[in-house]
Amino acid sequence: MKNLVILGAGTAGTMMANHMIHHLKHPEWNIAIIDEKEEHHYQPGYLFLPFDIYTPKDIIKTIEEFIPKGVQLIKQKIDLIQPKENKIKLADGTELAYDILIIATGTKIAPEETEGMQAEEWKKSVFDFYTFEGALALRDKLREWEGGKLVVHITEMPIKCPVAPPVICFPGRLLFQA
Ligand SMILES: Cc1cc2nc3c(=O)[nH]c(=O)nc-3n(C[C@H](O)[C@H](O)[C@H](O)COP(=O)(O)OP(=O)(O)OC[C@H]3O[C@@H](n4cnc5c(N)ncnc54)[C@H](O)[C@@H]3O)c2cc1C
Repeated sequence: MKNLVILGAGTAGTMMANHMIHHLKHPEWNIAIIDEKEEHHYQPGYLFLPFDIYTPKDIIKTIEEFIPKGVQLIKQKIDLIQPKENKIKLADGTELAYDILIIATGTKIAPEETEGMQAEEWKKSVFDFYTFEGALALRDKLREWEGGKLVVHITEMPIKCPVAPPVICFPGRLLFQA
């Protein structure tokens, strides 16, 4: 049996699992997808959380919901890729051999790299909306905000979603005008 291993069960990993299950069939192929998290987040939904257009329930689902039947879901932290041996090592020491490897471990924002951003005003008057926690904190602030200047600032490229900064301006504008 051959092995397709997908690292990460976010948007990209689950899409690949749902696509490849129709091409790499049992018993010739086994497909495994690995993620350390319990939750699957619909990240574009972070844009609508601050304005109470979405609730957390609209954004967070279980990872299992998106894994097709026949794909093995392994909930573990990925520790190491050993490309010379075509192997993956997991945090619990398990080793997995692969014939094809798909890396879909995503990207993370790094606000700590911008001096001053995470100082005393972080999550009080300075927010990100690229994480669930950031969008939630911004929602709580906007619920009690009495108005003033709201600045959407792009710190540095590349950013995770290029259209997100203008998008966050528009639902905000509609709501604040209403
Ligand atoms: C605010 C915002 C708005 C957006 N709007 C849009 C939009 O309108 N249109 C659009 O197309 N895109 C949009 N995006 C981008 C889109 O959401 C992302 O590109 C997409 O979610 C990325 O998917 P991914 O699978 O690459 O990464 P992720 O969804 O981040 O998944 C990566 C997975 O890998 C797992 N992982 C990572 N490292 C390890 C490890 N060591 N061990 C185990 N598991 C690990 C993580 O737990 C995670 O589940 C937006 C993003 C944001 C933040």
